[in-house]
Amino acid sequence: MKAIAVAPGAGVPEVVERPVPTPSPGEVLVRICRVGVDGTDYEVIDGTHGGVPDGDDHLILGHEAVGIVADANGTALEEGQYVVPTVRRPPPGVETNAYFERGEPDMAPDGEYVERGIVGAHGFMAEFVTSPADCLVPIPADLAPMGFLVEPISITEKAIEHARATRSAFDWQPASALVLGTGSLGLLTTAMLTETLEYDRVYCLGRKDRPHPTIDIVDRLGATYIDSRETPVSEIPAAYEPMDLVYEATGHANHAFEAIEALAPNGVAALLGVPGDRTFEVDGGHLHRELVLSNKALVGSVNSNRGHFEAAVDTLSALPDWVLAEIVSGVYDLTDLERAFPEAIAPVAAAGGGSTVRPDDDTTIKTAVEFEDI
Ligand code: NAP
Ligand code: BGC
Ligand code: ZN
Repeated sequence: MKAIAVAPGAGVPEVVERPVPTPSPGEVLVRICRVGVDGTDYEVIDGTHGGVPDGDDHLILGHEAVGIVADANGTALEEGQYVVPTVRRPPPGVETNAYFERGEPDMAPDGEYVERGIVGAHGFMAEFVTSPADCLVPIPADLAPMGFLVEPISITEKAIEHARATRSAFDWQPASALVLGTGSLGLLTTAMLTETLEYDRVYCLGRKDRPHPTIDIVDRLGATYIDSRETPVSEIPAAYEPMDLVYEATGHANHAFEAIEALAPNGVAALLGVPGDRTFEVDGGHLHRELVLSNKALVGSVNSNRGHFEAAVDTLSALPDWVLAEIVSGVYDLTDLERAFPEAIAPVAAAGGGSTVRPDDDTTIKTAVEFEDI
């Protein structure tokens, strides 16, 4: 079968041939239909995040998948049922651990999990994959074409749940929210805040010039676009208003600290980005004082569990079709990897050089790879 793999750091994914996997007892064989691409995939491709399974030199990519049960293998799932796989699994040689037993693999520390398509385990960009049945979340057939958005939506389900939990000791009535980042995670979250979480006033920060498809989405959602080049995050309260909730989805490390200044008293900021090491100056005393004297909270959030995936299926069905269609810029088959991965470093060798360049496709928001027509 065909799969899309990368030698991390190589900068470009490739199509490889692999044997069709055989499900073990309790596992299901899934025929993969579509797999989304997000910022994390590019970090894996670039070699700045994640890593290959032990003993392998390539990683099969993909953690945002939707597929169809091809062989239920005696489990409770039905053949022909559409499913979305969760991402985390126990490390190799370990059947389970306390986090997986509690249904909270998303809370496992480093070393207690692998992530399919990201770190230590092959992902879902293959014609067939196997997965334990309890790591497959059924979705209705009418949601299947956009089913690869369930995983990223589940990331926000978890982050918002944790952010709210930090404010659960008092009567918190949030009305304003600021999303940092106009990538696929930032835009999906902006849509959730306006359409399903029903925040009164939603803002989204980017660094694009109008006209741009990302800004069109923000406008059409009734949210307010803020250009970070004109209004830095720390100046947003003065220019607009202090925010009850901040959701960071840029991976720009300064934003973790500037978010504290963007918050209203009693507000909470959820940090999602995964930056590389970066040294810069902050006024630690000021930020510490702000957090304490204004009852502010900062919460980091990674991954999501089955409950978040189930909530995400409901959210996906509640989001307007137009916003999903606008966020998904294109779905491409295996013959079109350059368009599926427009931000991957393209070898210039093809044009006679030895170095690498990134093609500049500034209008692509999110892509997916299609293995099987839905
Ligand atoms: P993405 O498509 O790369 O989006 C990041 C966006 O942030 C881009 O639009 C980028 O703008 C923007 N940005 C970066 N620095 C900025 C700045 N200084 N001012 C304004 N905008 C800025 O990535 P994604 O898939 O949406 O994911 C967002 C981040 O979340 C990534 O770091 C990813 O690794 C992380 N993530 C975390 C989890 C988790 O479980 N915690 C899950 C998924 C993703 P340009 O387009 O102009 O570069
Ligand atoms: C994935 C998460 C994963 C995180 C860190 C994200 O892109 O969606 O499932 O936990 O990256 O690797
Ligand atoms: Zn992801």
